[in-house]
Parts: sequence; structure tokens; C-alpha cells
Amino acid sequence: MPDSSDKPSREGGPYNDPVSTLLNADLHCHSLVSDGTLSPEELAARAHANGVQLWALTDHDEVGGQHRARAAAHALGLDYLTGVEISVTFLNATVHIVGLGFDPDDPQLVRGLEATRGGRGERAQQIARQLAQVGIHGAYEGALRYVGNPELISRTHFARHLVESGVCSDTSEVFRRFLTEGNPGYVPHRWASLGDAVRWIREAGGMAVIAHPARYRFSPTEEYALFSEFRQHGGQGVEVVTGSHAPSEYPVYAAMAQEFGLAASRGSDFHGPGESHTDLGALPDLPGQLTPVWELLEHRILRAPAAPAPSVH
Ligand code: AMP
Ligand code: MN
Ligand code: MN
Ligand code: MN
Repeated sequence: MPDSSDKPSREGGPYNDPVSTLLNADLHCHSLVSDGTLSPEELAARAHANGVQLWALTDHDEVGGQHRARAAAHALGLDYLTGVEISVTFLNATVHIVGLGFDPDDPQLVRGLEATRGGRGERAQQIARQLAQVGIHGAYEGALRYVGNPELISRTHFARHLVESGVCSDTSEVFRRFLTEGNPGYVPHRWASLGDAVRWIREAGGMAVIAHPARYRFSPTEEYALFSEFRQHGGQGVEVVTGSHAPSEYPVYAAMAQEFGLAASRGSDFHGPGESHTDLGALPDLPGQLTPVWELLEHRILRAPAAPAPSVH
């Protein structure tokens, strides 16, 4: 019989309840309220159809879709956690912090997100001016056609316009040639501070989670600084299995979660059909030795009401 005492096991072991890591939780995706292409209701239906058992909508810098997402989830019998993805400036780079299980009506959080969104309109005009300088005209108006929420114009909307108008063949080409550091259409922007973002989430009753850490291209020292400062501010989780990571990066951040004592999250980062390569709910399970964020958020999960029992006459 194999000795499983020194390694994590799905069947039991010295760590946590191993079964809970097997939950099909998808705790990261975007709707039309930020830069996704589907409504909260369409996302809920898609999550449910794909077998998701616990869902969170995490629009960028915006909680305007939370009540709709929760209502749509509950109508389908799907458990829900409130969510948001906050843009943060850390070491002159943009880092994303996901918040889960907070009160979406918390005034400090709502005001903080409003301030974080605030500069997007002016930034978009500057992006368009830079693109015009390299011969791409009308990009602001073009991007606006894809915007679902006037307060939330994002580089994604520019990317869709540049693909649609034939400048690039897909959005990854857009982000390789435009909108990113060193390329036309890159406008540095100051987002929330790490400390503020974590505090807004925590003081609204939620948990802060580092989103897709492999995406930041930090040096090991910078990454260490991110994880340790995040912890010091009271951050508690990190995305380990995410549609924004390559599978080879999962074990790297599983080890980081353990090193820093962080709970692990799982989410597709789905933005829309045909645009995101990972669909809602279509991710590998979290490695069994980790503490899933949903274990610590047990008391914050908004459970779907039980389906009414069929009446007998
Ligand atoms: P913004 O918040 O306006 O800076 O836009 C950031 C968004 O752009 C991200 O949330 C992604 O949806 C998208 N994005 C950033 N980099 C890439 C990339 N390399 N490929 C595809 N989408 C990207
Ligand atoms: Mn996005
Ligand atoms: Mn992100
Ligand atoms: Mn995202």
C-alpha cells in the first residue's frame, strides 16, 4: 500500500478537508459592467451550464453588477460570492487584487472603487491621441462602441476595436504591438495603492486575493515584496489555478501560497466566448495540499435558496 503520509492526498491527509479543493469554484470573470462581453445573467447561465458550483463575478474596479449576478446565480440554484478585481499600482507596475465575499454596498469600498475608476476617461483620450500619432484615427470612438459601462473604458475595448477594424488579427497581437509599455497607446496610470485596496476589501468583510501573479513579470525580489507587503496589509489569498496562467505556473504559485501562508483561489478570468481560452468552470482542481479560499469564506458564501419541494396533494 502506498504511504501517503508525507504527501498531500485527495483521500485524506494531514492538511485540510481534501474534498473541498475539488469544488468547481470559478471566482474570477468579467461582464459587460467592465470589459467582458456577456451580461451578469448570461455569465451565471454559462457558469451553471458548465458545472460551476460556486461562482463570483469580479468586474474591474466596479461592483455595479453584483446584485444582478447574485440574483441570477440564485435563480439557477448556484452559490455565489461577491467579487471585484481592483487595479493597483505597486512598484510602478499594475497589479490586480481580487476581493471576494465583501459587502458590495460598503460605502468606503464603493467610494474607493469610484476614485480608482475616475481617471479612465481621460486616460482613454490620451491612448487615442497616441494611436492617432501612429496613423490610427478614431480609436476613442471605436473603443466606446464596445463599452458597456461608460465609467469603465478599458484597454480591452481598444483591443477589440483594433481587431475589428483590421489593424491586428487578435487581441494578443494588439497587446504585443500597442497599449503596453514601450508601444504606442501606452499611458501610465496611477491606480489604487496596495494597502488601500486590501483595506477596502477587508473592512467590507471580504478577503483580498493576489490575481494571476505570474502575469506581472516582477523580479524575484519584487515578487517577494508584493507577497510580503500584501500579507502585512492583511491579504489572505493568491490565485493558483487561473486561466491567466500557463499550467506550468500552477505549482510555482502553489508553493508560494504555502510559503506565505496564503489560501489558494481558482478562476477562469473569462471575458467572453471566442476571446478567452479558458471557459467558466473549465479549470483543473486546486492542488490538494492547499487551503481553498472558499474554506475561509464559508460564512460569506451566499447560498442559493433550496429548490421548493414538489407539493403533494
Ligand atoms: P486596463 O484595466 O484598461 O489597463 O485593461 C486591462 C485589461 O486588458 C486586462 O484586464 C485584460 O482584460 C486585458 N489585457 C491586458 N493584457 C492583455 C494581453 N496581453 N492579452 C489580452 N488581454 C490583455
Ligand atoms: Mn480584463
Ligand atoms: Mn487581471
Ligand atoms: Mn480579470
